[in-house]
Amino acid sequence: MTLNHSRSEALYSDALEHIVGGVNSPSRSFKAVGGGAPVFMERAEGAYFWDVDGNRYIDYLCAYGPIITGHAHPHITEAIIRAARSGTLYGTPTELEIQLARMLKAAIPSMDKVRFVNSGTEAVMTTIRVARAYTKRNKIIKFAGCYHGHSDLVLVAAGSGPSTLGIPDSAGIPPSIASEVITVPFNDLDGLQQALARWGDDVAAVMVEPIVGNFGMVMPVPGFLDGLCRMTREAGALVIYDEVISGFRFHYGSAQTYDAFPDPQAIEPDLTALGKIIGGGLPIGAYGGRKEVMAQVAPLGPAYQAGTMAGNPASISAGIACLEVLQTAGIYEQMDKLAVKLGAGLKRLADEHGIPLTINRIRGSLSTHFCPSPVTNYEESQLADGEQFARFFRLMLEQGICLAPSKYEAWFLTTAHTEADIDQTLAAARIAFQAMSRD
Ligand code: PMP
Repeated sequence: MTLNHSRSEALYSDALEHIVGGVNSPSRSFKAVGGGAPVFMERAEGAYFWDVDGNRYIDYLCAYGPIITGHAHPHITEAIIRAARSGTLYGTPTELEIQLARMLKAAIPSMDKVRFVNSGTEAVMTTIRVARAYTKRNKIIKFAGCYHGHSDLVLVAAGSGPSTLGIPDSAGIPPSIASEVITVPFNDLDGLQQALARWGDDVAAVMVEPIVGNFGMVMPVPGFLDGLCRMTREAGALVIYDEVISGFRFHYGSAQTYDAFPDPQAIEPDLTALGKIIGGGLPIGAYGGRKEVMAQVAPLGPAYQAGTMAGNPASISAGIACLEVLQTAGIYEQMDKLAVKLGAGLKRLADEHGIPLTINRIRGSLSTHFCPSPVTNYEESQLADGEQFARFFRLMLEQGICLAPSKYEAWFLTTAHTEADIDQTLAAARIAFQAMSRD
């Protein structure tokens, strides 16, 4: 089956004339999967997308994570309409902000105080500033392949987008800034210990995605986060969890409150960055943490952070509505069940066709690495075959299954996906693997 993409192709030529690279985020380009026009979507509802040529797709991209209740969920849509009718931006505090802050704090108790911003990038960037202000130190330790947004400090040896495009460090970042960042392999406590032994006195924070979503879905090995938190605190530095993906993705809470975690006492960070799901599909970010650390933030303290759009009623209302939906009993279990079927089915089909495939599944999300060996860190995920992924991506797209156009990105399920969607996806995967095994 080959879909007609003529209108997407025409729009892409137009977009190239006016929008740099034709896309407003490089991860949307098809560069990593052989190039050409990305599919231009027109409408989305539930688990489905319709493109400008009238083709329907089952969506596993889910906007790179924020969409967890399916597109245009009626409860969220109503909340957005209500907010829009009451005026979209005031530049004053609102009661809604308190409500969402309360919900976040109840779900993630390490956040004594919260501040809303507009994106995950902003949230992470500010946690670093706050950690530096609090510790009066400069350096940051991060883990190879973890992506923390596009602010200067964390775009050093970053993950999915940049690595896909083969840009380990972005241009435009001064060496003086890059020299403040130390990168260590994920799941490697010895590496962290060495970095802390060498630079510990000047390390403000160790930043980590406690469950990685940016070089596939990767769990910390048992003891990793525990050791990370202990060593970091011994060195007098703060622990920052970037939970922009993991917040509310696996259960109603975050990785740090996930009771199926390999480290039994879920270890609390000093600061947490959130985004994506907590905005219900509208722009948002949030950060928070221990009271005395957050007391650094203006107007209380000397670390400045502000935002014209921060806490806007539409984003906050969508976030509240999304979390309300996620409180429905059994909702995570349902996504989990479908993802188990999807992951196991993909693996079985790949095996049947002699195609090496590693599936990392964490509840309702999974990643597909075309390699025979386990993927526990970035180096291992880089070994996955990008050309095979590109071929698979195209074969699935042509059968109406929409994945992220990168071998590093995750597949996300939503509360709207059904068993029939999984069956259709597996039927498409069978055809894709058949074609690939004949290549
Ligand atoms: N942190 C993580 C873990 C992310 O995955 C992302 C985005 N993919 C960000 C931060 C940046 O978020 P945003 O794109 O909203 O700026």
